[in-house]
Amino acid sequence: MTAALDAIETKKTGGALSRDLIETVITGYVAGDVPDYQVSALLMAIRLVGMDPEETAALTTVMADSGPRYSYPGCVDKHSTGGVGDKITLGALPLVAACGVPVAKLSGRGLGTTGGTLDKMESIPGLRVALGRERFAAQVASVGLVVGEAGELAPADLALYALRDVTGTVDSLPLIASSIVSKKLATGAGHVLYDVKAGAGALMTTVESATGLAHALVDLSRDLGLAASAVVTAMDAPLGRAVGNAVEVAEAAAFLRGEASPQDLVGECLDVATRLVALHGSVADPATAVSAALASGAGYASLAAMVTAQDGDASALEAMPLSPISGEVLAGSSGWVGALDALGVARAALSLGAGRATKTDVIDHGAGVELAVGVGDRVETGQVVALLRGTRGVEAARTAMTGAHRVVGEPVDPRPTFLAEV
Ligand code: URA
Repeated sequence: MTAALDAIETKKTGGALSRDLIETVITGYVAGDVPDYQVSALLMAIRLVGMDPEETAALTTVMADSGPRYSYPGCVDKHSTGGVGDKITLGALPLVAACGVPVAKLSGRGLGTTGGTLDKMESIPGLRVALGRERFAAQVASVGLVVGEAGELAPADLALYALRDVTGTVDSLPLIASSIVSKKLATGAGHVLYDVKAGAGALMTTVESATGLAHALVDLSRDLGLAASAVVTAMDAPLGRAVGNAVEVAEAAAFLRGEASPQDLVGECLDVATRLVALHGSVADPATAVSAALASGAGYASLAAMVTAQDGDASALEAMPLSPISGEVLAGSSGWVGALDALGVARAALSLGAGRATKTDVIDHGAGVELAVGVGDRVETGQVVALLRGTRGVEAARTAMTGAHRVVGEPVDPRPTFLAEV
């Protein structure tokens, strides 16, 4: 019996996979010696039967070791499980760096309704995210803040994630946890904060399932020697008012310049930055240091320094290249905004060209949705609730946006952003 068939039989009948067996199958898969159909069957068996903590740790380590490992024990890193309008990396990490806590982060691209930090960064003219090992290291040392593409790290996760995407095996707690933690281990930062999103626009739609994932991530990280903690944050409505790429960079930059910004965005950026500085343990009063970094403009200077170091035009942060406004979405009645469905807004942005329906789609970096109101705001009939930017799929975007916002007859309190911590 081949190792792959042995693994499938073992898992199918409820057994535990040994570390050796996991290693043989996964390294064989990455090398092209184990076929997709056997790994698909194994993934489905894991999806249905689960994996215990030892198996999950073994799979995670094997995936992290499938490529080179970086080592940045003095740095912090953060990972969001993905949301709509999630520009926390751009808003919070410069504040962390400005507190003297170095940040080494590798990010991904968006697919479907989930945005990706790399796409957002590439909306800054000239900016590059493919840095290579030496340049990444040099920027950690010189700027104390780097966000690049994962490139050669954890190739097993890249291959397995693509297969999971087309075999209905994404929604498995041990597979999600091993996928995320393997990338964090390969990046090699000493301290990681996981931001697990909960709600309609997230991988985990309920607070319970998001909290379960947060525990799984923190436990797995700690089992593998990585100091970690997690927050669970709301993703029913988009974070902030901008959804797209350049529009989100503009919003994060405006926040860092101290301009009036949406409360959910301000609160989460400050909270995440404070937690990361606290995890590092080198700053006496993290909350005060983070507030001072915002107030003094030091956080904005860190963002600009990162952009410059990555060949981007930092002056563009003050006037991002946006696509033309192609439509307005109006309130159909007077009342209060009761809901802004994150998934509906994301579909509108996707339709405008801000995202990719398939991996090969070319995005319009300047396209997106700018919300004019937030949940709980009073609106009158005919008032503009959103601006659409971009020239593709405007009518489909308008339909999606019209369905995404709901006006109700009673005042509503927006749901708190921060839901739980682990
Ligand atoms: N994000 C990842 O990186 N991996 C998963 O499996 C799910 C979300």
